[in-house]
Amino acid sequence: MVIDKVRLGAFLEKLAAEIVAREDWGKVADYIPELAKVDPAQFAVSMVLADGTELNAGATDQRFSIQSVSKVFTLASVLGRQGESVWVRVGREPSGDRFDSILLLEQEKGRPRNPFINAGAIVTTDELLAGRTPREALSEILIFLRDAAEDEDIQIDEKVAASEKRTGFRNAALANYLASFGNLKNPPEMTLGTYFHQCAIEMTTLQLARAGRSIAQLPVSARMLLPERARRICSLMMTCGHYDGSGDFAFRVGLPGKSGVGGGILLIAPKRASIALWSPGLNGYGNSQMGTYAAERIARFTGWSVFG
Ligand code: GLU
Repeated sequence: MVIDKVRLGAFLEKLAAEIVAREDWGKVADYIPELAKVDPAQFAVSMVLADGTELNAGATDQRFSIQSVSKVFTLASVLGRQGESVWVRVGREPSGDRFDSILLLEQEKGRPRNPFINAGAIVTTDELLAGRTPREALSEILIFLRDAAEDEDIQIDEKVAASEKRTGFRNAALANYLASFGNLKNPPEMTLGTYFHQCAIEMTTLQLARAGRSIAQLPVSARMLLPERARRICSLMMTCGHYDGSGDFAFRVGLPGKSGVGGGILLIAPKRASIALWSPGLNGYGNSQMGTYAAERIARFTGWSVFG
């Protein structure tokens, strides 16, 4: 189906206006005090199509904390750097548990279910750190994002990183638990500090949609992944990208997506579009409430689905 870009642009504008008028925003993440200060009543969507057309609606120049959306790019960096060896340390199954749960880690002897729950992402960050300093590892993720987005102005918000460090007791527990099973190569505090900084990268929806071109395999992407790698990352986004809400997201939207507790969602229509959504209020799973709603509406409007 050929998409009518003018109609799609008008649809996004209408959708943004409709969402801004609503009141059921969900709750901002308050376990990271710096994120608790963000006004939930905000929405933005940016989309890049296969021919490079960019469509934007809402607060698309507002920077937000990408949080767990960063886990997609850390995984891509790790796979790009050392191939598939990371799968010895982390699985590829949905967890069905909360993003910061420690339950399965005990049962499964310190091998996290997937790279998108916190325990799994701490492992991929630890893998990226092997043989390098935190500064070098973080700069690899930033370089990936800046190259992919063709934008040098992508930074880490130090205040958010420090805020999470002060209150990140659960993540500290996860890192220590991983270390107790021998599944951490670096000191827990070093891996955690790097993980908190990676989560504190801030971007606009337009920057994120542009960076996502690499995952969506758009020919206009400034940085290409191996097609097989992009497909596999997408399959993990589909099955694990929204934590214990992944099944519901797949059911409602039918496209791979990765959420973050800052309210961002990177949504991929493979070979068709890279879409970034942001609305900081979260639903009960810790995923953006209005971002999920908008993703569902966009999928229905475009007819895009990986299920045909
Ligand atoms: N930095 C957050 C944490 O570790 C990321 C969680 C998320 O975005 O889902 O708790």
